[in-house]
Amino acid sequence: MDAGAIGFTTSIPIEILVAAGRRPVDLNNAFISRPEAHTFVREAEKRGFPSTCCAWMRGIYGVLTALDIDEIIAVVRGDCSQTQALMEVLQMEGARVYPFAYPYDRSPDAIRAEIERLREHFGVERKAVEEAKRALDRIRKKLNRLDLLTWRDNLVSGEENHAFLVAGSDMKGDPAAFEREVDTFLEIAEQRDRRPDTEEIRLGYLGVPPIWQGFYERLERPGVRIVFNEIQRQFSMPYLAPTLEEQYLLFTYPYDIFFRLEDIRREAVRRRLDGFIHYAQTFCFRQIEDKILRHSLSKPVLTLEGDRPESLDARTETRIDAFVEMLQREKRTSLAAGE
Ligand code: SF4
Repeated sequence: MDAGAIGFTTSIPIEILVAAGRRPVDLNNAFISRPEAHTFVREAEKRGFPSTCCAWMRGIYGVLTALDIDEIIAVVRGDCSQTQALMEVLQMEGARVYPFAYPYDRSPDAIRAEIERLREHFGVERKAVEEAKRALDRIRKKLNRLDLLTWRDNLVSGEENHAFLVAGSDMKGDPAAFEREVDTFLEIAEQRDRRPDTEEIRLGYLGVPPIWQGFYERLERPGVRIVFNEIQRQFSMPYLAPTLEEQYLLFTYPYDIFFRLEDIRREAVRRRLDGFIHYAQTFCFRQIEDKILRHSLSKPVLTLEGDRPESLDARTETRIDAFVEMLQREKRTSLAAGE
């Protein structure tokens, strides 16, 4: 069995990689989980990446210098408008790159064909992929439990929720070890004391994961919690759909904003959200979608823009505090009015 690592630029059907005995590596996680993440951004700049391209892109390119990766799956449709150029640079430098495309129209035939092409590329049987899906779904079920312990039972912080769900995209390269880590965490979390939540501010985090260090630590405080991490939850594939095709059609991230909005609205009601933080990455085309989110959501939205992997700047901290205070005032007023 070949245990070589396969890097990818956003979530792809890792069931195929697992069935092929390859190690899945989400390059975003590999970049941001390292304490020296900022050095990868600088490394990319030194090697000719413009400082006006998104820092996630520069970080992915930079971290590749520190990894032993056999092949890179570049998601050229459904993720990032900058990935094609990244793919071309990597190809020029001799890397093996495989393009994967989510269909714009969520066509079942198109996603099926794309998944089949990937399966054939790695030379695995359908049966092996189905077995891998069953094994990964067992872990995803546990991540769903962790998510429930976050928003329903108040036993898991928004930061812990973020860390586990975002890791679901590549299961830290070793699904069996990741499952043990999830099991241990769930055991600990389930023994915590349930906290009363009557006056709590319940926030939803929208957008790609924050590039900042210490964001959740700075935002969450007594009485204020993030109980919905939108895209991180998507990366954890919570659907438990019967087939791979259905699973990757339910994955909202690569499709249009209106499909994402259906999920956000549904979860906002279910999780009783008081407001949203929308994270927008500097130089990201998704910033344009902020207008649609703000227009479409009925609860207050605070849009924050992050650039590099560093601590929060003072202005952002002040804006967070002002937003939280405004929500707390509103909550106290509506509680006093018996709403
Ligand atoms: S944050 Fe936006 S621009 Fe940056 S890699 Fe992600 S999708 Fe691309």
